Amino acid sequence: MAKTKYVYFFGDGKAEGNADMRAELGGKGANLAEMATIGLPVPSGFTISTDVCKYFYDNDRTYPEQLEADVDAYLAKLEKSMGKKLGDPEDPLLVSVRSGAAISMPGMMDTILNLGLNDEAVEGLANKTQNPRFAWDAYRRFIQMYGDVAMGVDHDLFEAEIEKIKKAKGIKLDTEMDTSDLQKLVANYKKVYKAKKGTDFPQDPKEQLWGAINAVFGSWMNPRAIKYRELNNIKEGALKGTAVTCMAMVFGNKGETSGTGVCFSRDPSNGENIFMGEYLMNAQGEDVVAGIRTPQKLSQLEETNPKIYKQLCKVRSTLEKHYRDMQDMEFTVEEGRLFMLQCRNGKRTGAAAVKIAVDLVNEKLITKEQALTRVEPEQLDQLLHPALDPKVIKTQKELAKGLNASPGADSGQIVFTADEAEEWTEKGKKVILVRKETSPEDIAGMNAAQGILTSTGGRTSHAAVVARGMGKPCVSGCEAVTFPNASEVTIGEETFKKGDNITIDGTTGKIYKGIIPVVEASLSKELDTFLGWADEVRAKSVRTTPSGNKVKGFDVLGNAEQNEAPAAFKFGAAGIGLCRTEHMFFDPDKLPYFREMILADDTDERKKSLKKILPLQKKDFFGIIKTMEGRPVTIRLLDPPLNEFVPKPNAEAEIKQLAETLGKDITELKVKINALQEANPMLGHRGVRVAITYPEVYEMQVEAIALATAEAEKKGIAHDVRIMIPNVISVNEFTTVRDQALAIIAKVNEAQKMDLSFQIGTMIEFPRAALTADKIAAEADFFSFGTNDLTQTSFGFSRDDYGKFIDYYTKGNLLEEDPFKQLDPEGPGALMGIAEEKGRSVKKDLHLGICGEHGGDPASIELCYKIGLNYVSCSPFRVPIARLAGAQAVLKAKAATAPAKKPAAKGKAKAKKTSKK
Ligand code: PEP
Ligand code: MG
Repeated sequence: MAKTKYVYFFGDGKAEGNADMRAELGGKGANLAEMATIGLPVPSGFTISTDVCKYFYDNDRTYPEQLEADVDAYLAKLEKSMGKKLGDPEDPLLVSVRSGAAISMPGMMDTILNLGLNDEAVEGLANKTQNPRFAWDAYRRFIQMYGDVAMGVDHDLFEAEIEKIKKAKGIKLDTEMDTSDLQKLVANYKKVYKAKKGTDFPQDPKEQLWGAINAVFGSWMNPRAIKYRELNNIKEGALKGTAVTCMAMVFGNKGETSGTGVCFSRDPSNGENIFMGEYLMNAQGEDVVAGIRTPQKLSQLEETNPKIYKQLCKVRSTLEKHYRDMQDMEFTVEEGRLFMLQCRNGKRTGAAAVKIAVDLVNEKLITKEQALTRVEPEQLDQLLHPALDPKVIKTQKELAKGLNASPGADSGQIVFTADEAEEWTEKGKKVILVRKETSPEDIAGMNAAQGILTSTGGRTSHAAVVARGMGKPCVSGCEAVTFPNASEVTIGEETFKKGDNITIDGTTGKIYKGIIPVVEASLSKELDTFLGWADEVRAKSVRTTPSGNKVKGFDVLGNAEQNEAPAAFKFGAAGIGLCRTEHMFFDPDKLPYFREMILADDTDERKKSLKKILPLQKKDFFGIIKTMEGRPVTIRLLDPPLNEFVPKPNAEAEIKQLAETLGKDITELKVKINALQEANPMLGHRGVRVAITYPEVYEMQVEAIALATAEAEKKGIAHDVRIMIPNVISVNEFTTVRDQALAIIAKVNEAQKMDLSFQIGTMIEFPRAALTADKIAAEADFFSFGTNDLTQTSFGFSRDDYGKFIDYYTKGNLLEEDPFKQLDPEGPGALMGIAEEKGRSVKKDLHLGICGEHGGDPASIELCYKIGLNYVSCSPFRVPIARLAGAQAVLKAKAATAPAKKPAAKGKAKAKKTSKK
């Protein structure tokens, strides 16, 4: 049987691995191999693959049998390449031992430098370099690093020894220690080591090497690395582990002709095509990171060392052309000779990601399709919302963390009621509305506030949905927020009064004390170009659904009412997929009539109130139709439970005020309000069920829609208005309400002497609707999946209460994701698949979309594409994200079905080919 290959060599212009082998060699090992092959100056070395890491953990921290012999053989190869031997007392080879996984995890795992030094080799190094100070400094650094990282001797014990020597000599800086100080330090370090470990510091370089290899593989499971993977959503088991790269040391601290630095081939903060970075002469990499000395700007190197700078510029251009992406590089200059120690695709901000992707297309290095895969959809969020100043935020500790319900960040004075929010804002103050939860009547206060913080409620709670629609930051469901009394709030450990300043970050869910400055977002022309490419890809897409239906195109629409429609339009929505008419009733000019209608004594009284609302709704509908310039506008008829619009039974003051406004007896009003209360309002008298009991409510809304459309028609304004019925569970329900709507439309047509017609469709948001989709499709013109309710009802998780327990499910691996954030393919996703198949079995081209919050989530969008939806609809500020995520879903599906290609040619040949397109 062929031997498994565990170790890969690089150096002398050759390598056994390449950049495509990240999974086996880790990012660092793969790129070092690639750099060596394309002729860049890389110190020789070898990489032990991630398969060994996997073996190590699968087999009780042991290694494959052949590994020791393999490492011996590769070490010999490395020694040959460098012309030096590990541990040679005359001229020792020194190596670094570094970690590197397929996904970069900066600073999370261990690295050991200067390995190979011992009591003899240090003398050899001193002689050979004629620089004893350098040699003894290297040795003491090695003992310290090896002792700490590989052997777990506390770093502070070593630091204490440095302090002792400096104190005795009356010096301040490490660099002021001379050779004899460093020799003393080495002796003291060895004592520290022996005291802690019970053995002498290992003098055998092979023993040192294996100690370092063990340490690096062991660091894969250190708490820091585990936390990093958790925070970055890297599931345990998704990667095989870390690789270990053992590489010849080159030294940047051999005097003033040596140095070390890091650089970026473009600016990672804004994407500008400038070469930037930092370096330090006469220093080792760790000095740059430690911040003991202030590094110099790369541009200064051009003046002080033009030869090296020119070489670096060449490397920059070679690497960018080769990888066709912005590179982050580490280099060392040893006595005037440049070495590249690392390169990788550089991390960047959202703005930089977009600019770099667009520029690389213009420079003909990548195609538009490749550019679309270079930006994470979520990164676009940074471009649309203000963010906390990253420089300031580094120095702050959060008070508490809740759900990141609506992105963006802002500061303001704490207020506890929506009225206060309005009043204070009118006086020119900036406020954050802090509440247990919000309800529809808080809408004006939410609109006035800079942001919203709630102690309960999930991502689809009222506060979250409304804040996202408004583009305001919201942190919801923060259990660390409690209200000891009506005028105070405790956030984490601290208690605040009304008027105290706090800052909330809806992007991360964190809450801070005081005011933290924000950086404003601005839309760039590059983003426009970039998203235009995404639109083209989606428009041209064709796919076959799992049920065998062919679907063309994949649109992105917005969920918006009259106030948000302009934002949806600006962000490129191809229409409105969900206009929640109930949000319109929260306006102060409509709410009193609406409440009057809900609390009416009989049908006549109810109709009277509805008559007052009719012209107001019509005006709002007309506004949306006009804003959207002929794009589809889907208006959903009333959805939420009616009790959401009236004060809570215990809100005495509010009820009293309402009784006065309505001219009703307070006792009678209380009886009515009590009668409206339900044990389970989300499953109670809401949506189409209200229309079944009080047809006049939907009739008024349909009339307002028809009249608004008639006005648009008269004024020559393009229109495409669709009517959507929510909460349907049976075709009979649908046809009953649809027929009532048709009768109203006929009446308006007659009165207006017009021939308007409307598509009338339904939401699919309960399992029964999905399971009877064939019957419903026979009557409905379209389906829109309401996945908030579909998740709620297929999981049986209340969307308002699940925040209490969901973390236990996701962290305990009972569920992979929060199902209200990411559409669950096995629950609601499967029901959608059934509805697609059944629906299109009776109506081949049945138009399908989604308007639940998942419509703005990239992973859910991919699932929607696979299921065969024609569009996704999401809050305006997620529209750009969805435009990109939709295009990526198309490209991913295309790549999955494309016939396997030969490995891509590297370098210039491919660049030329691309440039012809
Ligand atoms: C849904 O249920 O997904 C939906 C869009 O409706 P709402 O959130 O208004 O209940
Ligand atoms: Mg719903």
